[in-house]
Amino acid sequence: MSENLEPVPFLDLAGVNGALREEYERAFSGVLDHGKFIGGPEVAAFEAEFADYCSAREAIGVGNGTDALELILAGLGIGPGDEVIVPANTFIATAEAVCYVGARPRFVDVLPDTLLLDPDAADAAVNKNTAAIIGVHLFGQMVDVDRVGAVAAKHGVAFVEDAAQAHGARFAGQRAGSVGVAAGFSFYPGKNLGALGDAGAVVTQDAELAGKIRRLADHGRSADSRFHHDLRGRNSRMDSVIAGALSAKLRGLDAANAGRVRAWEQYVAQLPAGATPVARHPKAEAVYHLGVVQVENREQVCKTLTEAGIGWGLHYPVPCHLDAAYGDFRESLPVAEAAAERILSLPMSPTLDSAQVARVCNVLRDATRGAPA
Ligand SMILES: *Cc1c(COP(=O)(O)O)cnc(C)c1O
Repeated sequence: MSENLEPVPFLDLAGVNGALREEYERAFSGVLDHGKFIGGPEVAAFEAEFADYCSAREAIGVGNGTDALELILAGLGIGPGDEVIVPANTFIATAEAVCYVGARPRFVDVLPDTLLLDPDAADAAVNKNTAAIIGVHLFGQMVDVDRVGAVAAKHGVAFVEDAAQAHGARFAGQRAGSVGVAAGFSFYPGKNLGALGDAGAVVTQDAELAGKIRRLADHGRSADSRFHHDLRGRNSRMDSVIAGALSAKLRGLDAANAGRVRAWEQYVAQLPAGATPVARHPKAEAVYHLGVVQVENREQVCKTLTEAGIGWGLHYPVPCHLDAAYGDFRESLPVAEAAAERILSLPMSPTLDSAQVARVCNVLRDATRGAPA
């Protein structure tokens, strides 16, 4: 039997979108026909479908995931003088959103097994200026909603979800987007629900907050007159073509997520001892936006994967609190700092098959052999 040495892409975006080509083309022609390119009927339809999918009352389509977070904070009235608790291990956008409303990110450490926000660290970081805690559902796994929610409730601060990597994830049966005051989603093309360009959404159970965010994202326009602006807003709206394509893709999201779960289970069964998978909380149903392991000799492992034609990524090698633009927030967060040196994202796609997983694990077995465990 000859071994399959085909390259394994980090993310099979062509495979994910290829199957939807005809539906995308239908969405394009529909929008060309009616000509309402921004905020057309496709946007309202997608917002209703996505709110329903998240078991939430409202969804507001916006320009991207970073805007979604910023608009939530602005909608909550968070700004200068306020602090927002952010895990050190996240994509920089989480911190950026806090800074753009004029508030200060207060970085806290993560748990060593899941690499998600440590609820005790969040509890300890709360002070009189704390206005919110952003729970980042990183890699496709929701934070410990019971404990993070309890910390936020105890101190009377908002629990905001960064659900950019967690479309369809659950914790104790509850969907990402349904548990916090509001959640920010990203539809960046590589996300579990990826658009044909930049896009995002705010999802919330709070109709009043939703109305305010909808207006903030549309120049602060007053609800009853398009010529009056009762809020100082900005422009962050969803395009009709993007929304039409997202509706088509949303119908297959659960099946796509199931493909990711299957691939991850195969990884966990076959990974060598030198590659430790990120743990899953027993109450979490993760959707594996990323398949992350920790290795000791990362540089060598990455080199070996590249030579074997296997894609990989690093999410994220520079913890936010050590990044150049955030240097003034510097303090030591040892778990996030140690993990940043060891984390490695393996190929992950809804289409990843068992032969591909086996091949990645075989290469990893050779690459991690002899490394200190
Ligand atoms: C992708 C991402 C964002 C930002 O989303 P954009 O659509 O790229 O602006 C925010 N937070 C996390 C955790 C992300 O992965």
